[in-house]
Amino acid sequence: MSDAYCIQINETGGPDVLTKVAMEPRQPGPGEALIRQSAIGLNFIDTYHRSGLYPVKMPFTLGSEAAGTVEAVGEGVENVKPGDRVAYLGSGTYATHFTGPASRLLVLPDGVSEEEGAAVILKGLTAWMLLFEVYRPEPGETALVWAPVGGVGSILVPWATSLGVRVIAVTSSEEKAGKAREIGAMDVIYAHEDVAGRARALTGGKGVDVSYDSVGKDSAKASLDSLKPRGWYVTFGNASGAVDPIAPGELSRRGSLVMTRPGLFHFVNTEEGLKKGAAALFGALRAGTIKAQVGQTFDLASAADAHRAIESGKTVGATLLKP
Ligand code: NDP
Repeated sequence: MSDAYCIQINETGGPDVLTKVAMEPRQPGPGEALIRQSAIGLNFIDTYHRSGLYPVKMPFTLGSEAAGTVEAVGEGVENVKPGDRVAYLGSGTYATHFTGPASRLLVLPDGVSEEEGAAVILKGLTAWMLLFEVYRPEPGETALVWAPVGGVGSILVPWATSLGVRVIAVTSSEEKAGKAREIGAMDVIYAHEDVAGRARALTGGKGVDVSYDSVGKDSAKASLDSLKPRGWYVTFGNASGAVDPIAPGELSRRGSLVMTRPGLFHFVNTEEGLKKGAAALFGALRAGTIKAQVGQTFDLASAADAHRAIESGKTVGATLLKP
């Protein structure tokens, strides 16, 4: 009898809808690999699937990223072999085992642990997407970064800083402000302050070049009001809820702003995109430009507690689930 299990939902709702379900690991078919998982990254998107903000078909196994060791490969698989340590993006990773396309697996470089892999794969690729594929700030430009010490933020801030970008972080507490400064933020604004007024004051009245905004509903207006004419509003998350509709005239009135709502999948769905992002991510890790920041770890069976923690807004860095 296998002790394999996964965490599923049968209905949308609060963290209590997460249910532990016994499973039989599926043997890999052609082009697939079976992985024994050792660390699973928790992401805000998992809470959107659970709450119903992003609809999914039930029953649904949560989870979007993980790391582990290849146990078996199917016919025709050449890029990985049993024993390889890998990290990956995938759907249904809240589980002791995962079976999926081998072509999507990234072999972890020496020196990068499975915990680190699970902490950076989705969040680090998101930071790469934002800085290199969506709006690439020039040295000397100013970026407003919301949730600067969260899962994505704790990678985005040092990476942006390494490019010569001045980061103005927006966060909720003194403790987080201190951490944001430690990882490179030049200035910090508290979310309860007049964020746009402070951002303008810090840029000599000009406004910031770009706002990387993962907070969503509560921060949208402040992001728009903080930008210089022709600045970029990069809205990439909904931690406080989905952004209300913004009329094109609002962008024009503030000076021909650019608004974009990127989703990581569209940047890494091809093998070429995934390889490009992974090369940049592992390169930055190797160079020490960014670090995997594991802030808190929960048992996979206690995933509901992990959801409560991330939704409380009190977590820092990445949150991991351990089978
Ligand atoms: P975080 O670790 O950043 O946690 C969310 C943070 O948002 C909190 O710690 C808090 O930081 C801030 N926050 C502000 N308001 C709220 C609120 N009402 N409730 C909870 N948190 C709030 O999470 P992740 O790193 O996992 O994800 C960050 C964001 O990036 C999410 O919105 C996620 O959806 C998005 N994302 C988007 C992707 C894409 O492809 N578009 C891919 C990956 C992530 P503080 O205290 O500093 O304000």
